[in-house]
Amino acid sequence: MKNFTSSNTILKRKSSLISIKKKISHQLVECQLEHHKYLFSLIILSLTKQQLIFTGRLKAGSLPHSLKHSRLHLLTLKSDKENMQSGRGNEVFDVIIVGGGVMGSATAYHAAKRGLRTLLLEQFDFLHHRGSSHGESRTIRATYPQHHYYPLVMESYTLWQQAQAQIGYTVYFPAHHLDIGPAQDPILRAVIDNCRRHAMPHEVLNRRQLASKFPGRIDMPDDWIGIFNRLGGIIKPTKAVAMFQSLAHKYGAVLKDKAEVIDVKKDGENGVVVFTSNGESYRGRKCVVTVGAWVNKLVKKVSGVELPIQPLETHVFYWRVKEGHEGDFAVGGDFPTFASCTGEGGIYVYGTPSLEFPGLVKVAVHGGNPVDPDKRPWGSGYRVQDLKKWIQQTFMGLVDSSEPVVKQACMYSMTPDEDFIVDFLGGEFGKDVVVGGGFSGHGFKMAPVIGRVLTELAIDGVASGVDIKPFRISRFSMNSRI
Ligand SMILES: Cc1cc2nc3c(=O)[nH]c(=O)nc-3n(C[C@H](O)[C@H](O)[C@H](O)COP(=O)(O)OP(=O)(O)OC[C@H]3O[C@@H](n4cnc5c(N)ncnc54)[C@H](O)[C@@H]3O)c2cc1C
Repeated sequence: MKNFTSSNTILKRKSSLISIKKKISHQLVECQLEHHKYLFSLIILSLTKQQLIFTGRLKAGSLPHSLKHSRLHLLTLKSDKENMQSGRGNEVFDVIIVGGGVMGSATAYHAAKRGLRTLLLEQFDFLHHRGSSHGESRTIRATYPQHHYYPLVMESYTLWQQAQAQIGYTVYFPAHHLDIGPAQDPILRAVIDNCRRHAMPHEVLNRRQLASKFPGRIDMPDDWIGIFNRLGGIIKPTKAVAMFQSLAHKYGAVLKDKAEVIDVKKDGENGVVVFTSNGESYRGRKCVVTVGAWVNKLVKKVSGVELPIQPLETHVFYWRVKEGHEGDFAVGGDFPTFASCTGEGGIYVYGTPSLEFPGLVKVAVHGGNPVDPDKRPWGSGYRVQDLKKWIQQTFMGLVDSSEPVVKQACMYSMTPDEDFIVDFLGGEFGKDVVVGGGFSGHGFKMAPVIGRVLTELAIDGVASGVDIKPFRISRFSMNSRI
């Protein structure tokens, strides 16, 4: 940015000039007059370091009459291109959020709602299908083997409902939830312990009890158990991301897509400058990086830190319910969202009742194949044969397991322990850059609370009511650069 600041600069206002002999350039100029700053849209007629002669008008509002012939103190002079970058003249944002998936959009929503000057940058079109947050359904459930997720999920239920009340349409559909698997499976044992620890009402079912709850519809082997509770549900992902972006915009956030961030640099003591591949730059006091499967690439470029996050390509599949039984698998009845461990070396299956495509039920495998997010194979699927077998046995022949009817590709950003990363980047950035990543295929449900926490970390330096210790970058101590 060119800085022409000089206390001696005199601006002569010649707005009455009719014929302009030579137009030097058209500029936005920020000037200080008494204690107020004014933004002028000017045609510059002559410019030296000491003097600027121009014709033009105030960008917004009007200059008080009494001040019209006063001396103006010229603060900055920027090119048209520079002025276009911020969307609001020479603005320094309180927080710049990089990545417009669900985490970045929820963060923009919280930040803007707090009254912060907020900028959200997305590399592709908003609501694109190349990341992790698009599609028709995500499960929300409170049954986790790790106890630290329980408060996050419980707060998220409330925040989802608050946000959808603000926007006026529904993104959260309640359902029951069912986990099944071998009785001694450590994940299921830990889930039961957590239900007890958090006094979450639940039922532990054997095969016969499961059969009487879902007669003719859900089965499992004799040595398995089911854990049934009322805290399940479905979130509509693309619709939810659109909701957060709309609300963020309503609260004053600036949203820009096709803005790929290629670097973030310290801006002296004032925060950061964020650079995009189309040659633009933005200044922010704080920056939040929520770039999903691209987090390794960007964080390494910016700071040299290598995060152990593996992008995986995965698929969701929709399977046809046999004619006459569609209602038995539909949302709004008693059919639950579900997850199934299948024991050592087996697959972890998850799914939702029929909602988005009438007569089709979503059943998919947790996990996927390692990929470079910029060179996707758009492959055929992960352990689909095992999945077909599971569907045949579990849904008692009521769901056609021969082939899926609809298939959608998506990406995970997987950490070694499948816990999130929610932390300051540190190093030369200290607390100025916060990273939210590694959501490992189970983060969507908690996006509203993650958005709140990322905003608070960036602005307040600490997040209220949430212990972020399990999400610290330093837990990956095998990486000497961290
Ligand atoms: C098939 C599938 C099923 C899932 N099921 C569930 C579920 O049932 N329940 C649940 O809770 N979770 C689930 N998840 C996980 C959940 O969807 C993700 O954890 C969540 O969407 C991650 O969001 P994100 O914002 O971190 O990433 P993304 O959605 O990928 O967003 C990151 C954004 O950053 C942008 N970006 C990247 N680099 C840059 C850059 N340099 N400059 C600007 N922008 C950039 C990307 O284009 C992208 O839009 C599932 C995920 C998948 C793939």
